[in-house]
Amino acid sequence: MAKPAASLFQVSDNVAKMQASSTLAAMQAADAMRAAGVNVVDFGAGEPDFDTPENIKRAAETAMRAGKTKYTPTAGTRDVLDAIIKFYEREFGMAYDRTEVMATSGGKQAIFNAVVSLINPGDEVLLAKPYWVTFPEIIVFARGTPIFIETEETGFVLSAEQVERAITPRTKLIILNSPCNPSGRVIPPAEFRRIMELLADRDIYVISDECYLRFVYPPAEVFSAASLPTELRGRLCIAGSFSKTYAMTGWRVGYALTPREWTGAMLKVQGHSTSNANSIAQSAAVEALNGPQDSVAAMLAEYTARRAWLLNALREIPGLSCNEPEGAFYAFPSVRECLGSAAKTSADFAQRLLEEEQTVVTDGAGFGADGYLRISYATSMEQLREGVTRIKRFVERLHT
Ligand code: GLU
Repeated sequence: MAKPAASLFQVSDNVAKMQASSTLAAMQAADAMRAAGVNVVDFGAGEPDFDTPENIKRAAETAMRAGKTKYTPTAGTRDVLDAIIKFYEREFGMAYDRTEVMATSGGKQAIFNAVVSLINPGDEVLLAKPYWVTFPEIIVFARGTPIFIETEETGFVLSAEQVERAITPRTKLIILNSPCNPSGRVIPPAEFRRIMELLADRDIYVISDECYLRFVYPPAEVFSAASLPTELRGRLCIAGSFSKTYAMTGWRVGYALTPREWTGAMLKVQGHSTSNANSIAQSAAVEALNGPQDSVAAMLAEYTARRAWLLNALREIPGLSCNEPEGAFYAFPSVRECLGSAAKTSADFAQRLLEEEQTVVTDGAGFGADGYLRISYATSMEQLREGVTRIKRFVERLHT
């Protein structure tokens, strides 16, 4: 048999600077282990363990049968744009125009479109640590410079003072993410507003990633930047997703709400990359927003119970300490006190946990928080119990 040709491929400078997604890598590691028949506990996946609600699946089926299988306008169908607009009007009292909305292939594409249509080489983009792994990579791809804001002193809750200290004359944009992936922390609405006031005074653009918008645990409250006064929203892009709220990760559908000119630029990017979000997924998204919302409440109730159980259980493991996440479905404990000669970093910890206890967690380093681990509780109670037993056993071995 002929040998394969030696690779002549030379990666572009832009992509050479990119790190592969560590969240996707953790999910794929778990998947490979499951396929090999390993009894794996998967705390890696940032994805609901629930199935997409039936009414949404039915809407997709109907759309497919009705021949909604063609290109749609780049921004999305009128129905999906109107459903998004109606949702924001209903929930937050904000009236968006169709020219300010677009459906995207997942929330990730909304953020990608927004960043690459705004950032010039050398522009600074503020990111609070810990950040979702994809943010800095998109910024670097656009040849911007990520400027990281340390928030450990405030338990990973970003404050207006921290933002103010990081601003320079080159600051063009900040990406806010509350509830935060990976910490689960929520910026209190009053503080969020102070941050937005500060940014509006300095003409700095904002992307508010509201992917976990609906998964907030009382007394914290659901809050969208859409509810802020118009004068604070002139440079605001809201990026949203159907993936988490409606357990639709595989459907790849999200959206962006932006001032008209910014939307126009984003549509050019989308028009030359994916054209439009999947037509069938757009019909499903319409049903998700307009149909009954009881599945969201049921998922939230389940996450609430798991979160309470997990936080207590983690606190009983010597050496682990964990802030209380007010939203999303992640716990983000520090394992620094467990580190030593056996596991020097949180990456070593995660790797050994995988090898010795077949338990997948995501290392905090990829989120800019070395010494921490992200544990997703978007998994069954049974898996949570088993996984925590394994982590406990592993930590006990590290301590001996
Ligand atoms: N957003 C999820 C996570 O953080 C899914 C993977 C990804 O897109 O990063 O795990």
